[in-house]
Amino acid sequence: MSIQVLSPEVVDQIAAGEVVERPAHLVKELVENSIDAGATRVHVEFYDGGRIVKVIDNGKGMSPEDLPKSLDRFATSKISKSDDLWKLKTFGFRGEALASISSVSKMTLTTRREGDEQAYQLISEYGKKQPIDRVGGSQGTTVLMENLFENMPARLKFLKSDAAEHTAIKTTLKAMALAHHDVEIRIQENSKLVNFWPACKDRKERAEQILEIKPLFVGEASREYVKAYAVFADPHNVAKTAKNIWLFAQNRWIQDRSLQAAVNEAYRSLLMHGEFPIAAVWVETDPEYIDVNIHPTKSQVKFHDPSLAFRAVAGALRSTLEKAPWIQQSGQLRSQSQFNEAGGAVDYSDPSATFSSAKGLPNFANQPEMPKENLAFNDSTFKTTQFQKKYFNFPQSSVQQPRMDYQTLASAAESRGDFEVAMNTQTAAEVSSESVAPVSGGYWSSLEVLGQANLTYIVTQHRDKMVFVDQHAAHERVAYEKLMNAWKGGKIDIQDFLFPLAIDMSPEKVEGILLLAKDIERLGVYIEALGPGTIGVKAAPLFIKESILGKVLDRMATEVVDQGGSYSLERAVGDICATMACHSVVRAGQALSVDQMKNLLREMDHFPLSSFCPHGRPVSVEYPFYKLEKDFGRIV
Ligand code: ADP
Ligand code: MG
Repeated sequence: MSIQVLSPEVVDQIAAGEVVERPAHLVKELVENSIDAGATRVHVEFYDGGRIVKVIDNGKGMSPEDLPKSLDRFATSKISKSDDLWKLKTFGFRGEALASISSVSKMTLTTRREGDEQAYQLISEYGKKQPIDRVGGSQGTTVLMENLFENMPARLKFLKSDAAEHTAIKTTLKAMALAHHDVEIRIQENSKLVNFWPACKDRKERAEQILEIKPLFVGEASREYVKAYAVFADPHNVAKTAKNIWLFAQNRWIQDRSLQAAVNEAYRSLLMHGEFPIAAVWVETDPEYIDVNIHPTKSQVKFHDPSLAFRAVAGALRSTLEKAPWIQQSGQLRSQSQFNEAGGAVDYSDPSATFSSAKGLPNFANQPEMPKENLAFNDSTFKTTQFQKKYFNFPQSSVQQPRMDYQTLASAAESRGDFEVAMNTQTAAEVSSESVAPVSGGYWSSLEVLGQANLTYIVTQHRDKMVFVDQHAAHERVAYEKLMNAWKGGKIDIQDFLFPLAIDMSPEKVEGILLLAKDIERLGVYIEALGPGTIGVKAAPLFIKESILGKVLDRMATEVVDQGGSYSLERAVGDICATMACHSVVRAGQALSVDQMKNLLREMDHFPLSSFCPHGRPVSVEYPFYKLEKDFGRIV
């Protein structure tokens, strides 16, 4: 076959494959057109797996001259020169959505401008336009699309089940609604009204409508020219997939792995494995620092500096998460989440509620008399613990000169043959305790210790309830925060080994971890190559037990190897501290004296987020007395 230029119809159909791969995509294009036309009300109907879609808006409409042009390829009223691409104020700009959709469907466009006496209607079948008609109709534009892909049976086969296409459409409309809180949106599926979202005053209110969770929290952060605004659920309201992380750049719904990672990063240590945050995040930047035109469906963007966007997003969430505002509001913290089966707050009014699903939340419900400044988690506490910058502000220099002042302690421990216990005592009581500002009258210290149950739980009471504290989880959180603080301040006590400690791992891993040697030194761990399958540890923080050192280094090495050399020190530090904390603290099954228990609770007050252990497990669970009274039949 000789070379020939494709006919415009074929070109349109090829392009349609990109722009309208599936019905949800064309719904997005149509709704964006309505919003670009200034609509304040958009009504969407769909039937038949999205093969019929109708979008009605009250926007500014089109002139009878523009109406036929709107179906032409690369015909747009939104930009005129390439420079405009960098100053976009509209969602559309490529001028190809209507051309593409109309080339693969029957389309009926009805439009009326303000001041026009009647509406104009254009019908197009698979790209063939009929003459314009005058019809009755109110201001705005109605696009009815039918017979999708009927001229392209091959594409029709790619559509999923009606239910799956409907779900995709509804997800898209949720995203559209999140992006445009000031627009009223009505959704009708197979003639049934399934959603009605009135216009809202702000994003948070809209997010409450869409995510169906209350309360939600907001956070903001800026990194240079990138701003992020986040609305999100507290860590008790979680999802089982990452689908409830909604990302927007310049108010466009985007898919972006890096920003998704930023959201997860912010929730780090608050969620358990398999739990995902529920959050909507908007990133805004000067238009010249973002390219929104890298994908036909405009679902991806390119940031001039992706790391700024990452940090802004993580910072926006973190700034609020660290204040744990849900603690003061926990009276309302009855889960309304549909995603919540994985473990949300326990509803104590429900007799079948089990303790195991509670995330040990200090419950201040019904305690209006409790003075605010007594709350361990209020603002001033944070400032003194310098916790806020933990994830983003790493010391530039490596760890300071090793100090050997724990030598006596360590040798005393060894001579007693009680290495583990000695290490535990040291970790809990002494690692960098100077870096922690004293806090008095916090929530945890206000718990009255009654005893220890099953050598595992600290049994306490507090006003109208009993509170059980998992001694291991609590200690782990304390140790974790101390390690993180110590690491940040370069205040880790290092011990030199007389002979390097040999750790065997695969040659590939040895190579990988040696690349990180400098980073690892910042953790106080000094390594060298001892052989092709062995690394030697020359010095390490005193509080890390030798057996853990091997485990931790092996894990780091595995990560470097798995990720092809890339490695996040930020993440490593959190992980390492969590692992060290986990292995160096009191275990379940260890007897504690009342003083030890009190000390532990006092230490909990030093740290924000202390209601979770670093792995996201709850630290405490509560048992209100009224529940006990119910169980004893004192009240019914
Ligand atoms: P783009 O949105 O990229 O400009 P489209 O093919 O989606 O391209 O739309 C082409 C043109 O049709 C738009 O530029 C706009 O002028 C007009 N148009 C489309 N939908 C509407 C609508 N709902 N209300 C008013 N004008 C519309
Ligand atoms: Mg458009």
